[in-house]
Amino acid sequence: MADPAILIIGAGPAGLTAGIYASRAGHETMIMERELVGGQVAKTALVENYPGFSRPVEAMNLVQEMAEQARRFGCQLVTAEVQGFAIEQSPASGIAVMTTTGRIVPRALIIATGTTPRRLGVAGEERFVGRGVSYCAICDGPLFRDKEVAVVGGGDSALEEADYLTRFCSRVFLIHRRDEFRAAKTVVDRVKQNEKITFLLSRVVTGIDGQTRLEKLDVKDLKTGKTDVLPVAGLFIYVGLLPNTGFCKEIIERDEAGFIKTDPEMRTNVPGIFAAGDVRQKRVRQIATAVGDGAIAGMMAHEYLQTIR
Ligand code: NAP
Repeated sequence: MADPAILIIGAGPAGLTAGIYASRAGHETMIMERELVGGQVAKTALVENYPGFSRPVEAMNLVQEMAEQARRFGCQLVTAEVQGFAIEQSPASGIAVMTTTGRIVPRALIIATGTTPRRLGVAGEERFVGRGVSYCAICDGPLFRDKEVAVVGGGDSALEEADYLTRFCSRVFLIHRRDEFRAAKTVVDRVKQNEKITFLLSRVVTGIDGQTRLEKLDVKDLKTGKTDVLPVAGLFIYVGLLPNTGFCKEIIERDEAGFIKTDPEMRTNVPGIFAAGDVRQKRVRQIATAVGDGAIAGMMAHEYLQTIR
């Protein structure tokens, strides 16, 4: 594998957009992805707030188009995982990146590794992953056709995925620890109209149990202190996101939660290394903000390469 001038880690909307900008600026650019092109977006069904589409767009189609656009400008997309990296003698002489397919030395690096769903941390969760417990409605929803399932969380992900699951499931119980939602009002209003969704508010899951597969949850009412058993075949957990930054924590400055700190031009604390998208410390995590970050990172990596020539 020849060394690219710019290596982008992660093929979500931020990484793909950085790839479009960097390769269009004329640089040998590689995007490395360990999993699916599209990142977290590929694990959702429909997107209704990405500008340019007056009707909800299939999330997979949106990211596939971004990938195709990057390829059209000559960007190479490869499947491999980055394990770590080190700065050569100086940042200008390159960044040695260790990957599952070998060592690469790009001259600029863009970290767009996104996030991973947070675990709920309740007894039984790990045991039933893949046997009723899921973090991806689009991947596993069809397995629960005509079954009753629960979703935990009160953010955009929980509400949108609960809505999506009603395509397959006979009933979806939405369990949230407060009476108010973090999700956008339009999403909350839409979900409240969905007759297949039952809200269990001010409640938390305290137990996940079954024989070989998930069969029931213990659900505690935080107002009364009473715990009820809820029989369900599936539990979809959407309680927030953790940044995928373990591989760079020795070198790149992060906040207490592990998100990468950047300046407004996506520069990290190390010259030549940029970060973009959900992995970055910021307030708004949307596809629209990820592509904005990616565009800036791609252009700033280009500018950086001009200065170290
Ligand atoms: P989020 O906004 O961080 O929401 C996490 C939810 O989980 C919160 O409601 C939180 O409750 C709850 N929670 C956290 N820990 C919990 C625990 N231990 N037990 C029970 N509940 C717990 O996460 P998200 O929904 O995955 O969204 C992440 C980001 O992506 C957000 O910026 C969101 O706007 C964005 N996003 C956007 C779209 C879209 O625009 N189409 C779609 C999906 C996601 P509290 O509210 O009580 O803290």
